[in-house]
Amino acid sequence: MAALVRCRASGDKREMVVAALRTCARWALDFALPPRCAGCGIIVDDVHSFCPGCWKQVEFLGEGGCRVCGIPLASTDAETCAACLAKPPRIARSRAAVAYDDLSRNLAIRLKYGRKVAIAKTMARYMIPLVKQDGGDRLIVSVPLHRSRLWWRGFNQSALVACELSRALGIPADPFALRRIRRTPPLKGMSAIQRRKTVAGAFRIRDASAVAGQTVILVDDVLTTGSTAEACARALKRAGAVRVELVSWARVVKPSQLMR
Ligand SMILES: [Zn+2]
Ligand SMILES: [Zn+2]
Repeated sequence: MAALVRCRASGDKREMVVAALRTCARWALDFALPPRCAGCGIIVDDVHSFCPGCWKQVEFLGEGGCRVCGIPLASTDAETCAACLAKPPRIARSRAAVAYDDLSRNLAIRLKYGRKVAIAKTMARYMIPLVKQDGGDRLIVSVPLHRSRLWWRGFNQSALVACELSRALGIPADPFALRRIRRTPPLKGMSAIQRRKTVAGAFRIRDASAVAGQTVILVDDVLTTGSTAEACARALKRAGAVRVELVSWARVVKPSQLMR
């Protein structure tokens, strides 16, 4: 009754209460509804998984590929690809769960706009095996959004996945360790050099003591050329992180590089 009275007290407050109820309802729905295929949405038996049809389509990347960057290796490469040998990246180890295609892209989009909790859990489920279980003090950090975009969207999709990984692996997460201090335009269509220039200096560490001496596991949703992650790694290493690894949901791989 008291709540009802408060709701009537002011329009602003009522809107807030309605928004809070909607959020709660969405969370409850995520758990109460039958599990759905993360790819096409049909009802499946197993929670946070794919139907047999989508399962066949998903291109899991797993542990194979270059020891450093994870890209599928050419027959002439040994354990490390030619590019990593020529110029070792700041990120000591990059892994992605799946190749970026219509299905994985769809999931990344639905994480932003749809059933967020369920999708974050699905992505985390396939990213968990890619996080190494050894290597000193570890901290999970997500690639941040700029303040204005965070305000507009209300949450950071990579931070949701980072929290799921943290919970499942028992590794602490700090979703606020990195800050994006500059808004950057979409990198799509830019060359590698343009991308690097665009994101250079866009990230800052909030508190260096939180990352100093740590192996940081950086979490992102989609890995394209890696320039954003490299810029994050630069800031993390300057603040004293001993090693930076990256785990992402999907990565862009040339069709010719996929080993079918
Ligand atoms: Zn499906
Ligand atoms: Zn490589």
